[in-house]
Amino acid sequence: MTNDLPDDERPPPNPPTLSCTQCNRTWTLAYELDELHAGNSAVEQFAMDHQRHTGHFPDGVTPFIADCTQCPATEQYLTHRPAERFAETHARHTGHTITLFGTEKQTTISASDVR
Ligand SMILES: [Zn+2]
Ligand SMILES: [Zn+2]
Repeated sequence: MTNDLPDDERPPPNPPTLSCTQCNRTWTLAYELDELHAGNSAVEQFAMDHQRHTGHFPDGVTPFIADCTQCPATEQYLTHRPAERFAETHARHTGHTITLFGTEKQTTISASDVR
């Protein structure tokens, strides 16, 4: 006795799902996949849109945060490089010191790092 399905009866791939405890909601990412053709970046696209519209990220998404210690400038990104680039350009143009928070250790970028 076997429960294996024949190859041509495999279920269609499920779109990924994301939930947010702050919104108390769960979403499937079919819209991102179908309408935005986001493909592998569907989760990232959803997370960025959610942050843009609600001010917070959904569950399980940890942003990199570049936060200026000297002015209100703060930016959040899902990948390290753009956060680092924001910190570097902010320091370069303003002379301010930016703290970079992420999943790894916290780093600080100041104007002397980007001369
Ligand atoms: Zn939310
Ligand atoms: Zn600043």
